[in-house]
Amino acid sequence: MAAGDRIHEMAPNLLCFHCPACGYAHHVGVNGRKIPGSNGSMNEWGWNGSFSSPTFTPSLLVNKESLGTSPRCHSFVAEGRIQFLGDCTHAMAGQTVDIPEWDAAPRIAADVSNWGSATVALKLQ
Ligand SMILES: [Zn+2]
Repeated sequence: MAAGDRIHEMAPNLLCFHCPACGYAHHVGVNGRKIPGSNGSMNEWGWNGSFSSPTFTPSLLVNKESLGTSPRCHSFVAEGRIQFLGDCTHAMAGQTVDIPEWDAAPRIAADVSNWGSATVALKLQ
């Protein structure tokens, strides 16, 4: 961890960042680590290797079906910013914002009990 980091490596090649729209962290598998995605398949992303100005490809789709009380969240993450797409069901749809610096974001804990379900997320503690 270094000052200015916006993402955190929870486990080898499992990255996460705090989503200010959803209020919890979204995670991203990189470098061959596949994680269950909202689309029902195993996914991994490309990453530019930066913790302070990360870029992930392709887009991230979280809670595709808006299950429970959490919104659907669909974004592009590029150069440390989140571009929320128009199909998000939260209030930040269509906006582009900085990823909060990790040290300023709420503390989170990994909730792996839901992995494999449609809602894949790291929840606020
Ligand atoms: Zn989100």
